[in-house]
Amino acid sequence: MIEVVKSAVRNLRAYSLSPHRASVKINQNENPWDAPAAIKEETLRRLANRKWSRYPDFIPVALHEKLAAFASWLPDGVLAGNGSNELIQALLMVTVSEKKRVLISEPTFALYRQVTTVLGGEVASVPLTDRFEFDVDALLHVIQKTSPDVVILCSPNNPTGCLLGDDDLRKLLSATSGLVVIDEAYHEFAEHSVVPLLDEFKNLVVLRTFSKALALAAFRVGYLLAAPELVTEIRKALLPYNLNAFSQAAAEVAIEMYEPELLPLVKKIIAERERLFAQLKRIDGLEPVASRANFMIVKAGIGPKEVFTELLKHDILVRDVSSYPMLSDYFRFNIGTPEENDLLIEALQQIAIGGSGVSTTTR
Ligand code: PMP
Repeated sequence: MIEVVKSAVRNLRAYSLSPHRASVKINQNENPWDAPAAIKEETLRRLANRKWSRYPDFIPVALHEKLAAFASWLPDGVLAGNGSNELIQALLMVTVSEKKRVLISEPTFALYRQVTTVLGGEVASVPLTDRFEFDVDALLHVIQKTSPDVVILCSPNNPTGCLLGDDDLRKLLSATSGLVVIDEAYHEFAEHSVVPLLDEFKNLVVLRTFSKALALAAFRVGYLLAAPELVTEIRKALLPYNLNAFSQAAAEVAIEMYEPELLPLVKKIIAERERLFAQLKRIDGLEPVASRANFMIVKAGIGPKEVFTELLKHDILVRDVSSYPMLSDYFRFNIGTPEENDLLIEALQQIAIGGSGVSTTTR
């Protein structure tokens, strides 16, 4: 029976996540703080005053307008989705079919390769440099040689945390006749965005999410920013009512309260990232990689699988990324609360090879 499934799909390894649980959960790049009470209360108040028997907006115009103001872009150039995952899929559905080429840089978020393959497209992949930076010259070379229909780069990149510079992005946008998609799921933690380039480059698409800095992963909201004529086409691949009323309300409230309620948490995460990087560097047997996101990869002398298992014994859940290209010696964790980060440092000091790590943790 499974012969009816496309062979490219049968050959694909399913995207999966280990089902483990732990008190310190730092495996999915989420915001370690829950959504602030003010955001929850206002969302619930708005929902209580809304008829639950009625469909959500066919197109969530109010949310699109708020997103446009929030991101400094045109309301007609905004598309909200059920997580940015849905928008990655919609974008690829309207651009990729057999023989279409998608260029990515690996290691990166696994979904780009997965969706392209399911749709019958061809993935070309350029490795990051050995310092885990984007290899822009190699990307330009592949663009010139193969004219990909879509280039997708995640910046800051999951799982390595490297950022693509604006000058490099300009080179890529100018070199290709296809689309360049920049996944900005983690841009708040880099305090950088490529949105100012949207005006100049009609082939640029920006993807963002409410699942990380905006602390709403449970409600699945993402958005896409691009030229209005492109948004009109991408919308055709979305199902009607893709965004439920609860998610629409929560997203609107999160935008309205971003500066007082969420931005301070983002700043704390950035400060904690720098503290963690400095502390982990001092532990023998560990080599953290500097990151612009809310997570970090670390090379572990004793091997990432061992670290994963040992940390789990300390009730800490990290991500084993050792099956990713170039990362056979690495694990990834996201920045937690200061208390969670202290627990991680202490546990790693005990686990790491040599065991002569620093004895105190300082914030
Ligand atoms: N893009 C990247 C790079 C991600 O890491 C993730 C989440 N892991 C997503 C998109 C998906 O975000 P969402 O929850 O909005 O679907």
